[in-house]
Amino acid sequence: MEKDFNISETVERLRAGKKVKCRKCGKGYYVTNPDFITSSNNFWCDKCNDLLHIIPSVIVE
Ligand SMILES: [Zn+2]
Repeated sequence: MEKDFNISETVERLRAGKKVKCRKCGKGYYVTNPDFITSSNNFWCDKCNDLLHIIPSVIVE
């Protein structure tokens, strides 16, 4: 994991519809259920399934 990888910032970018490359495999992109993209707390890599999970004010890896 990159030292400067900021999960909450990354999730904000994903919610805004931006593509973010996987921090783990560097090949896939984080995806989520398209119906909940603006509110989703879970994003996962479409290649290796690395999971980003965020809950309000508390960040969990
Ligand atoms: Zn990956």
